[in-house]
Amino acid sequence: MLDRIDAYLESHLNESIAELSRLVAQPSVGAQNWGIQECAALVADLLRRRGFDVQIMPTAGAPIVCAERKGRNPKTLLFYNHYDVQPPEPLELWETPPFEPSLREGKLYGRGVSDDKGHLTARLFAIDALLATLGDLPCTVKFIIEGEEETSSLHLPEFVRQNLDLLEADACIGGEPDVGSASTAFEQPEASFAQGRVSIRVYLGRRQCARGMVGIVVVVGLR
Ligand SMILES: [Zn+2]
Repeated sequence: MLDRIDAYLESHLNESIAELSRLVAQPSVGAQNWGIQECAALVADLLRRRGFDVQIMPTAGAPIVCAERKGRNPKTLLFYNHYDVQPPEPLELWETPPFEPSLREGKLYGRGVSDDKGHLTARLFAIDALLATLGDLPCTVKFIIEGEEETSSLHLPEFVRQNLDLLEADACIGGEPDVGSASTAFEQPEASFAQGRVSIRVYLGRRQCARGMVGIVVVVGLR
């Protein structure tokens, strides 16, 4: 099955890069209140097109996108990601404009390509590959995607406390190796959904990953 998943990802690489580019082209600079609502709407659209039930939930700050798609197994995997990015300044250090993604020598350049839009879309592409290969997801998948990670996740802890049912899951995978400010929201005693016991088998894509990247993660079984 992994061969078929790899083949799917390889043969759809251009579409994947195009979709990531579209997301990166949408500015979402929390510190400058630039493009946040628009980016949340775009992220919601990416998930809806993959059959997820999606809610854009308001907070006192940036909206949080929550999504769920049922899988074969009722075990639930929750992904955390964020759609906001760091300010692009100083602009003179960019060879190409930060919100005009540019593919050079096989690498995509733009603000958010890695942190965290690349991580988010890598998961979406893994889901595409699973749906194309299996026909459905091996387990239920949820997303929580916030827009304030780069500004200290100010409203995330309260949101988590108020939405434990919505976020209930057997396991949670963070946005990047260090989810920074967001991790505190998931370490609170109330948020025990992140501490469920479940054994998972995880395979990383074959590609060598740059520092901070975790490649395309494919969960092939929950039990
Ligand atoms: Zn990040």
